[in-house]
Amino acid sequence: MSTISESELLAKVPSQLYINGQWVDAAGGKTVDVHDPATGLVIKSIADASPADGMKALDAAVAAQDAWAATAPRLRGEILRKAFDRVQELKDEFALLMTLEMGKPLSEAIGEVNYGSEFLRWFSEEAVRITGRYGTNPEGTGRTIVTQMPVGPCYLITPWNFPLAMATRKIAPALAAGCTVVVKPATLTPLTTLYFVKILEECGVPAGVVNVFTTSTTAEVSDPIVTDKRLRKLSFTGSTGVGQSLMKLATENMLRTSMELGGNAPFLVFEDADLDKAVDGVMIAKFRNIGQACTAANRVIVHESVADAFAQKVTERVKAMKIGRGTEDGVSIGPLIDSKAVAKADQLVQDAVSKGASVLTGGKAIDGAGTFYEPTVLTGVTSAADIMTEEIFGPVLSITTFSTEEEGIAIANDTEYGLIGYVYTEDFKRGQRLIEKLQTGMMGLNAGVISNASAPFGGVKMSGLGREGGFEGINEYLSTKYTMTPNP
Ligand code: NAD
Repeated sequence: MSTISESELLAKVPSQLYINGQWVDAAGGKTVDVHDPATGLVIKSIADASPADGMKALDAAVAAQDAWAATAPRLRGEILRKAFDRVQELKDEFALLMTLEMGKPLSEAIGEVNYGSEFLRWFSEEAVRITGRYGTNPEGTGRTIVTQMPVGPCYLITPWNFPLAMATRKIAPALAAGCTVVVKPATLTPLTTLYFVKILEECGVPAGVVNVFTTSTTAEVSDPIVTDKRLRKLSFTGSTGVGQSLMKLATENMLRTSMELGGNAPFLVFEDADLDKAVDGVMIAKFRNIGQACTAANRVIVHESVADAFAQKVTERVKAMKIGRGTEDGVSIGPLIDSKAVAKADQLVQDAVSKGASVLTGGKAIDGAGTFYEPTVLTGVTSAADIMTEEIFGPVLSITTFSTEEEGIAIANDTEYGLIGYVYTEDFKRGQRLIEKLQTGMMGLNAGVISNASAPFGGVKMSGLGREGGFEGINEYLSTKYTMTPNP
């Protein structure tokens, strides 16, 4: 474990905007405070960009685009690989920084550094595999040439819940493809991205290729960038509502878009499941990141014959969870991101109880400093409860039951979202049926955590479009160009 103190680490993190290779104050010197959700205290004040600053960031990305696209893919890959090595070396610092600004337990923050940095390594390797094709057309009258071009300057908007991974998952494939970027991390957790961009600068990313700003006046600064004709791609991770409004703006210039939006993941436990494995799986799928993940198990749907045994085992595990600041040893439940998140979790619990659910453990906000909510287990949740349709984004495990496979699938698919589903069964044929029948972009089959840089992450329905990671990830930043030429 790193011996660096919290104050030493925070002093190393830039507090300015990074535009065209320079760290600069916001126009007018405005700043915005970043808080530790475990204490409510301000940990750092950082530059708060104005619309003019946002436009300067786009100007820089546009100016750097052609030269960056012309660099050798190997060079781009080597810069990303250097960044991977450096983030790994600074693992403890990145982890502590995320715990300080976002609240997740330190052990989970280490996990995120490993996961998030893998996108740098994966796309460092993909940069040199961008390829095309050359061939005779079917009529034999000419040659078909297909090449892949970088889409051009990109605007990358990330959420607060995974401050490193959401940034690397976008920045790495964009740079690998030869695109320049403007990055806007969430105002609640910008420090990790600022520190990461400092590392990219040290690793040799040329001026203008990566630009980053934070702002408290988001739409005012962001809208002119999204609607600027020079921007060619918008990649957004966040809530479905904001994603929808950005999609509308993006139609103005027919922007390429990737949308990683909200989820309402079903976690199906069949009567033939290994219950202990299912309990292990749901503890991760539900409580990782204090329940604040788009992939979080939102509706635990258990076969009626095993529901009581499952609920009992889960409740024992949840009662043993240690709540506290993520920096403390053994803590698995840190604070929620802010008081609004606590109020929302509580309101969903109260609503479910008023519609017939029982609280097996938890069910209350915790008084005192910080924004904590007790890890909670609800059973007997009815279809009328809001918790069945809304993203909880908190440590509340909500159990409902089913009696036949068809009914389980119908409940699982009864949502506007389609990011991920989890299925626990020891019957492989049933697992295969579920792969085909669950309306989601991803599935965990006897697995409670699925994220991996080598795999395509993304959803269907209101969970968005596009894929991040895998072979598919770099294609989001490439545009296919076809050329016809007569026979030589
Ligand atoms: P959010 O939509 O409030 O904010 C996401 C980002 O968009 C932030 O940077 C925010 O500042 C910015 N933003 C907000 N309004 C904007 C506007 N008008 N113009 C431009 N940018 C704007 O979401 P959040 O609360 O930060 O994150 C939680 C949400 O993100 C959840 O719904 C979660 O499911 C989703 N999420 C999805 C994935 C995925 O891969 N599908 C991953 C993580 C989080």
